[in-house]
Amino acid sequence: MNQLHCQKNAEYYPAERGKTAAPFLENGMIIGVKRSFRVEKMVGGGGFGQIYRAVDLESKLVVAVKVEPKSSESGRIVLELNILVQLAHSSHIPKVYYSGEVGIYNFIIMQLLGSNIADLRKFQRSRSFSVETTSRVGIQCLECLKTIHKLGYIHRDIKPSNICVGIGEHKRVLYIVDFGMARQIRFSDGTFRPERPYASFRGTTRYVSLTAHERKEQGFVDDIWCLFFSLLELVEGLPWKNIVDQDQVCNAKRLMLNNFQSRKMGRNFEMFPQILERTKRIETPDYERLIGILKSSCPSFNELEEFEWDDH
Ligand code: ADP
Repeated sequence: MNQLHCQKNAEYYPAERGKTAAPFLENGMIIGVKRSFRVEKMVGGGGFGQIYRAVDLESKLVVAVKVEPKSSESGRIVLELNILVQLAHSSHIPKVYYSGEVGIYNFIIMQLLGSNIADLRKFQRSRSFSVETTSRVGIQCLECLKTIHKLGYIHRDIKPSNICVGIGEHKRVLYIVDFGMARQIRFSDGTFRPERPYASFRGTTRYVSLTAHERKEQGFVDDIWCLFFSLLELVEGLPWKNIVDQDQVCNAKRLMLNNFQSRKMGRNFEMFPQILERTKRIETPDYERLIGILKSSCPSFNELEEFEWDDH
């Protein structure tokens, strides 16, 4: 695997980032040194990077290219590559095939995925998913988070647009993407990174935990809070969806959690936030119990069934 380089020179920093910027790569362009890939089309963009579909010219495999300017904040893509490689054993993380640089950009070649579930929800006539789909999304994401956390990392930006569906034989598998905001909180010797008295805001306002709103150090459980708010949005919407002000969003979350009830997920799901509230920052969350709650929310749970978006 090639080493990526981080260029901190502001002169290379583009005025616009990610999906709002002009395309970083041209269609038809060939990238790579030891292996060559032909860029075909932009398929996604985030806050920093752009994602293209490309073809491996030797194996003809269709792949995804994630590209970011070398000047990008703290070398996000370098961190991302490092984590993706460590998580190669997880079936819910895209596989990395190659990495390199082209001009002022770093890139990672990885497994091509399908749509993210934020987009898929918007295509639904009801703008929401069934309890079955939501529970399956939750279960697969919890399994994935368990693997990420076992390595000592927290993702810090779990949200529907960072959860993608697989394609072809993997179409019933969900993948977590975008490790650009991840942080290692436990090291391989089992010690924890010291807690800071003040932590800058990290995450996406709509989904972050109260801990993140309060600018406190996040732990494993905070990823699951993001997942909890994401699941609620998928199944029945969030009352703060049109609020931009962070403090107002935080208050709306507090209000909801004071007496949490779910219209569609049933009584058992009310225990989900209660368990999270009792889990301390460096404690290992009880993934199995949370998975059990999601399974009990839908008696017809069947992971072999097609997802409701399969007929698109
Ligand atoms: P950023 O780090 O710039 O925020 P992301 O990694 O979040 O970028 O990717 C942005 C979007 O691109 C995602 O919401 C997703 O829809 C799409 N995407 C990400 N990775 C892949 C992939 N491997 N295959 C296909 N689409 C992807």
